[in-house]
Amino acid sequence: MFGGMQDYELRVPRLIDHAEREHGGREIVSYWADGTTTRTSWAGIARDARKLAQALEKLRVKRGDRVATLAMNHSRHLVAWYGAIGMGGVIHTINPRLFDEQLVYIANHAEDKVLLYDKVFQPIVDRLRTQWTSIEHYVCFDDRQFEEMIAREDGNYAWVEGPEREPCMLCYTSGTTGNPKGVLYEHRSSVIHALTEISPACFDLSTSSVALPIVPMFHAAAWGLPFASAIAGLKLVYSAVNDPTVLCTLMNEEKVTHSAGVPTVWLAMFQYMDATGKKPEHLKIVTIGGSAAPRAMIERLMRMGIRVGHAWGMTETSPIGTIGSPPAHWDELDFDAQVDLVCKQGRVPFGVELRVVNDDDEVQPRDGVSSGRLQIRGPWVIKRYFQDAAGDCIDRDAWFDTGDVAVLHPCGTMQITDRSKDVIKSGGEWISSVELENAAVGCAGVAEAAAIGVRHPKWDERPLLLVVRKEGSEVTADDIQTHLANHVAKWWLPDEILFVESLPHTATGKLLKTALREQYRDHQLATATAPPLAQA
Ligand code: ADP
Repeated sequence: MFGGMQDYELRVPRLIDHAEREHGGREIVSYWADGTTTRTSWAGIARDARKLAQALEKLRVKRGDRVATLAMNHSRHLVAWYGAIGMGGVIHTINPRLFDEQLVYIANHAEDKVLLYDKVFQPIVDRLRTQWTSIEHYVCFDDRQFEEMIAREDGNYAWVEGPEREPCMLCYTSGTTGNPKGVLYEHRSSVIHALTEISPACFDLSTSSVALPIVPMFHAAAWGLPFASAIAGLKLVYSAVNDPTVLCTLMNEEKVTHSAGVPTVWLAMFQYMDATGKKPEHLKIVTIGGSAAPRAMIERLMRMGIRVGHAWGMTETSPIGTIGSPPAHWDELDFDAQVDLVCKQGRVPFGVELRVVNDDDEVQPRDGVSSGRLQIRGPWVIKRYFQDAAGDCIDRDAWFDTGDVAVLHPCGTMQITDRSKDVIKSGGEWISSVELENAAVGCAGVAEAAAIGVRHPKWDERPLLLVVRKEGSEVTADDIQTHLANHVAKWWLPDEILFVESLPHTATGKLLKTALREQYRDHQLATATAPPLAQA
């Protein structure tokens, strides 16, 4: 039986219609790779998106077809999102930092029809063009090509209507092992996710906000911000360049109040601040996610008077799974306790459900100590990877296994302790590589650290800590061990600390632990008295 309410399919074009109608004059600022700045507005984005929709139809892009981008953050990229989705297509944001082999695989697997790309990625296009089998049209965002293409259209266009469960966007997980996998978002999932994001307990966005998302538009649906920003009708500031000088200048000139990005971008910002004495003056809320935010980073931002939202999620979860915000008793906590709380990954918004299970698939209590595999379900969580013959990737009750190891606290706060493949298994107990790394980064003179499990004849595995020193620092292994001893259990202390020039990263800036494990597979720890076990 139907109720008495109107039909209103939750489709993405409704977001841009709303932004155009209610916040049409609010600005979208873009800082380009050539150092120039341009300004448009939500009305301008909507107008150009309609023109692009018309242009894509002329290129014979059909409903459901994939329109790919290989681009940084700027207004034309935003036009591409809304234009491709508005004409019934699926926007496929490709991560240009992936390896060639993955770039070829992804575009072919997605059967992309059109590729819109930044001029800086012309070498990638030239290199891979002959291997991309489905792309029929290449359009460069710069060099006037894109502008001329849409200038030929009149913008008199009605968005394609249809059911809310239709797909609108495709993102591939970077896949540190095996082939990347596609996650196909739907109009409905994207709209509900974006509605959730603007809430005070999440990103806290409204029309008075000025947001500079550092998270690239090609990473995990840009954390949903292009959609949430349209709902809020906020001012958007985009930079096609990820340089702290540019970012800090833009933040101050445009009076940026909100920003979001992975931990490494804030490390670069801190270095800039230390070198110049400058800082972003107007920032109120910073969201950090993608990997665990180190305590020292959270503390420094909080001391600047900035609220830090520590978020956890993955491409498979659109990506917001949990995010921290001040709880009811926040003001009663002292500063250290507040930082402790922000170091954890926050709580679920309505819609998302979490549970932790042990190796026997038994659901664990929310006691803050029982750790196990983190599982998630909800309206914006994956059911099946794109064109995956293996079928659904969830269990009978719709739980998706995240590959993360976590504990749930009684208040509902979730704390990631590791990725299941990264935990160090020592004598039947688990050592969190992430906690070791974060503790190490808190030691003066340490720029970056990676902890991996190395075979040990007695304990199965023991931790090896690889450390990159800060420039000019002479920090020693003993200094680091002393520091660590104050932060982790004694049996967690690394058996050995090695100093390295740099550490390998994935295309999304995370430590590439698989490569490190491979490299140090036969490393003989100084503590191993017996010869290492025979390789399996
Ligand atoms: P990829 O596997 O390609 O890196 P994602 O970008 O989707 O894919 O990364 C998701 C993973 O990143 C999560 O499963 C988790 O391991 C890690 N992650 C994300 N946010 C956090 C966080 N705040 N703390 C710890 N780990 C995080």
